[in-house]
Amino acid sequence: MAYVITSPCGAEKAAECVEVCPVECIEPGDDQFYINPDICIDCGACVSVCPVDAIYHEDEVPDDEIEYVDLARKFFGI
Ligand code: SF4
Repeated sequence: MAYVITSPCGAEKAAECVEVCPVECIEPGDDQFYINPDICIDCGACVSVCPVDAIYHEDEVPDDEIEYVDLARKFFGI
Protein backbone atom coordinates (compact mmCIF):
# COMPACT_ATOMS: atom_id res chain seq x y z
CA MET A 1 0.00 0.00 0.00
CA ALA A 2 1.03 3.59 -0.55
CA TYR A 3 -0.19 7.12 -0.67
CA VAL A 4 -1.38 8.51 -4.01
CA ILE A 5 -1.33 12.05 -5.45
CA THR A 6 -4.53 12.97 -7.29
CA SER A 7 -5.78 15.63 -9.72
CA PRO A 8 -5.63 18.79 -7.55
CA CYS A 9 -1.82 18.52 -7.76
CA GLY A 10 -1.99 19.33 -11.46
CA ALA A 11 -3.12 22.89 -10.80
CA GLU A 12 -0.69 23.50 -7.94
CA LYS A 13 2.43 21.31 -8.12
CA ALA A 14 3.55 22.90 -4.87
CA ALA A 15 6.32 20.44 -3.86
CA GLU A 16 5.93 20.75 -0.08
CA CYS A 17 5.37 16.99 -0.11
CA VAL A 18 8.76 16.38 -1.71
CA GLU A 19 10.48 18.28 1.09
CA VAL A 20 8.85 16.32 3.94
CA CYS A 21 9.02 12.80 2.54
CA PRO A 22 11.55 10.87 4.67
CA VAL A 23 12.31 8.33 1.94
CA GLU A 24 12.43 10.72 -1.05
CA CYS A 25 9.88 8.74 -3.03
CA ILE A 26 8.01 11.71 -4.57
CA GLU A 27 9.16 12.71 -8.04
CA PRO A 28 8.00 15.40 -10.48
CA GLY A 29 6.18 14.45 -13.66
CA ASP A 30 5.19 16.80 -16.47
CA ASP A 31 1.78 17.60 -14.97
CA GLN A 32 1.99 16.65 -11.29
CA PHE A 33 4.10 14.91 -8.65
CA TYR A 34 3.98 11.14 -8.24
CA ILE A 35 4.61 8.87 -5.24
CA ASN A 36 6.59 5.69 -5.90
CA PRO A 37 4.35 3.01 -4.34
CA ASP A 38 7.25 0.59 -3.99
CA ILE A 39 9.19 2.99 -1.78
CA CYS A 40 6.47 4.88 0.16
CA ILE A 41 6.44 3.77 3.81
CA ASP A 42 2.89 5.00 4.49
CA CYS A 43 4.01 7.58 7.05
CA GLY A 44 1.40 10.15 5.96
CA ALA A 45 3.72 13.14 6.39
CA CYS A 46 2.97 14.43 2.89
CA VAL A 47 -0.79 14.57 3.43
CA SER A 48 -0.91 17.44 5.91
CA VAL A 49 1.50 19.68 4.01
CA CYS A 50 -0.31 19.45 0.66
CA PRO A 51 -2.02 22.85 0.15
CA VAL A 52 -4.67 21.40 -2.17
CA ASP A 53 -5.45 18.14 -0.29
CA ALA A 54 -4.40 16.05 -3.28
CA ILE A 55 -2.88 13.12 -1.35
CA TYR A 56 -4.84 10.10 -0.18
CA HIS A 57 -4.01 6.69 1.16
CA GLU A 58 -4.45 4.14 -1.62
CA ASP A 59 -7.44 2.65 0.21
CA GLU A 60 -9.15 6.04 0.48
CA VAL A 61 -8.74 7.54 -2.98
CA PRO A 62 -12.15 8.93 -4.10
CA ASP A 63 -13.85 6.93 -6.84
CA ASP A 64 -13.52 9.75 -9.37
CA GLU A 65 -9.76 9.93 -8.74
CA ILE A 66 -9.04 6.19 -8.80
CA GLU A 67 -7.17 6.41 -12.12
CA TYR A 68 -4.32 8.14 -10.27
CA VAL A 69 -3.41 4.88 -8.53
CA ASP A 70 -2.52 3.37 -11.91
CA LEU A 71 -0.99 6.59 -13.22
CA ALA A 72 1.58 6.51 -10.41
CA ARG A 73 2.42 2.88 -11.12
CA LYS A 74 2.84 3.61 -14.81
CA PHE A 75 5.02 6.65 -14.09
CA PHE A 76 7.46 4.44 -12.19
CA GLY A 77 7.17 1.53 -14.64
CA ILE A 78 5.59 -0.78 -12.05
FE1 SF4 B 1 6.66 9.91 1.50
FE2 SF4 B 1 5.40 9.29 3.78
FE3 SF4 B 1 4.07 10.55 1.82
FE4 SF4 B 1 4.80 7.99 1.49
S1 SF4 B 1 3.31 8.79 3.00
S2 SF4 B 1 5.02 9.64 -0.01
S3 SF4 B 1 6.76 7.95 2.60
S4 SF4 B 1 5.78 11.38 3.00
